[in-house]
Amino acid sequence: MGLAIPLLVGVLLVAAGCASVPEPELRLYTVDCGSIAVDDMAPFADDGSLDGESVDLANPCFLVRHGARWLLWDTGHPDSLAGTAGIAGGGFHSTRTGRLVDQLRRLDLTPESIDYLALSHHHPDHAGNANLFRQSTWIVSRAEHEHMFSPATRENREFFDRYSDLEHSPALIFDREHDVFGDGSATIFTMPGHTPGSSVLLLRLAESGALFLTGDLYTHERALESNSVPRFTMNREELLASRRRFKNLAAREKARIVVQHAKPHFESLPRFPEFLD
Ligand SMILES: [Zn+2]
Repeated sequence: MGLAIPLLVGVLLVAAGCASVPEPELRLYTVDCGSIAVDDMAPFADDGSLDGESVDLANPCFLVRHGARWLLWDTGHPDSLAGTAGIAGGGFHSTRTGRLVDQLRRLDLTPESIDYLALSHHHPDHAGNANLFRQSTWIVSRAEHEHMFSPATRENREFFDRYSDLEHSPALIFDREHDVFGDGSATIFTMPGHTPGSSVLLLRLAESGALFLTGDLYTHERALESNSVPRFTMNREELLASRRRFKNLAAREKARIVVQHAKPHFESLPRFPEFLD
């Protein structure tokens, strides 16, 4: 008995020392948030390499689950497009088959369930449903935030009206990078050029390894090799510098690169509600 108590205490101490907190499960869900049929891809490559090609671009949103917390990366075309013929103009035809809110419901989620909203950038194909997530904590780069609420951008109602409510959201504004869950599993980096504060998201998944969601840093999968630049880029030099920095990061992380508008990349990801982990 004299020995048993110290032995028991010792066993408990060892057990306590070994008891590691289980890793929160990180999951990546890819949600179909529309598509964009482009008659002629010429504007997407300033080296002429896409001239005359017609391409169906994907337009996904991404849900990231970290334990009990949820991050939504991009919101796609507005849900109001679902069930309509879409919007056509300027050689682009934007459509949406199902609504984002209905996809969320398949995981028993509502917009109020989303803890964090982050947009790769503010363009309407990425921010189409942003106002639905006004109650989420909005993680945004300082440069994109300033641009989104500048007097000139406010006047562009086609852009501004999609995300105007975020002005009153709880916001988490960062300068160069932000660790979303505080454990390095999901990190947002600014990659300016396409827009002043465009961003990419690095996920470190337990089974699948590192993966980058790249917004519109590249708008066609071939640009990963050719490094062609869309003609509608806001700052070409800044974009090229961001791509150099990005390529170094991706190599260091040995990361899979997802070009969000690339249909082959979209189709290579598990079909919702299946996920990567
Ligand atoms: Zn886009």
